[in-house]
Amino acid sequence: MGGVGGARFLVGLKALLSGPEHEITAVVNTGDDVWMHGLRICPDLDTCMYTLGGGIDAERGWGRAGETWAVKEELAAYGAEPTWFGLGDRDVATHLIRTRMLNAGYPLSAVTEALCDRWQPGVRLLPMSDDRVETHVVVETDGQTRAIHFQEWWVRHRAALAARSFASVGADKAAPAPGVLDAIAGADAVLLAPSNPVVSVGTILAVPGLREALRKTEADVVGLSPIVGGKPLRGMADACLTAIGVETSAQAVGRYYGSRKTSDTGILDAWLVHTGDRCDVPGVAVRAVPLLMSDVDATAEMARVALEMAGIDVG
Ligand code: GDP
Ligand code: CA
Repeated sequence: MGGVGGARFLVGLKALLSGPEHEITAVVNTGDDVWMHGLRICPDLDTCMYTLGGGIDAERGWGRAGETWAVKEELAAYGAEPTWFGLGDRDVATHLIRTRMLNAGYPLSAVTEALCDRWQPGVRLLPMSDDRVETHVVVETDGQTRAIHFQEWWVRHRAALAARSFASVGADKAAPAPGVLDAIAGADAVLLAPSNPVVSVGTILAVPGLREALRKTEADVVGLSPIVGGKPLRGMADACLTAIGVETSAQAVGRYYGSRKTSDTGILDAWLVHTGDRCDVPGVAVRAVPLLMSDVDATAEMARVALEMAGIDVG
């Protein structure tokens, strides 16, 4: 999963599976991670950690509640580039600790666990990989083709520069983080959150071994569509889908993920789409239910149906 869609989904799933007999592990995209002003920033992990730990700015959907921006203003006063990235004062403390631990040699998975000691997210948050994997976007500006970091495209340009393609730099040499493959192999059910199919789920699938793990697990794999009524709900996933030649529809995303049974690369047993969205994915069971994560109860109900489709009855 990614940040905002993934984190909201986890809140509902956690509410549904509140008993001590349940265990939730989230495999989180780290392709958005970036170095800024010497700090290592992991937007999707932090969005999940702050959201589940009660520290998120709910309106913005990312960063800390009660945030102030003195560090960002001071950096701008020095003319320090980049100035377009939202670096909040409270958030900086997280990045300082992360960077210090990484510099001391701890892998990102251990750093994440240490940060979660404070936030107690109630879900085991695993980075997809401890290795550096960064999503770059191939764009054309002034007749020149160049690759820019995902954050520059997404935050600075608001995904308005037409993307030619995406590259997961470093993915070919990356390994899944400790615990990731075991979590998938040992799961009772595997759910794909309604996250960005290209730069969140797609990047996770680019880590060698991840797709195979999803194809091999004995658990059913159920996806939830991030596309509702032909549109992404928060964010600009349509710009990402267009770049890889996939239509912005629940059906096209379901087909892009593909069937575990009838395709050689597919990862889905079942696919949940929003009520009223027509969808047929060969070799995949499809069901239409409300998929708007408007509050915790609505999200928990989405999770309940997804688990039911995986053969797990939680009442
Ligand atoms: P990011 O890393 O912050 O971009 O977050 P994700 O990749 O986890 O999620 C972004 C995706 O979540 C977007 O493509 C949205 O379409 C999807 N999304 C956000 N809110 C909802 C919702 O209420 N329902 C559904 N079905 N999808 C949602
Ligand atoms: Ca993200």
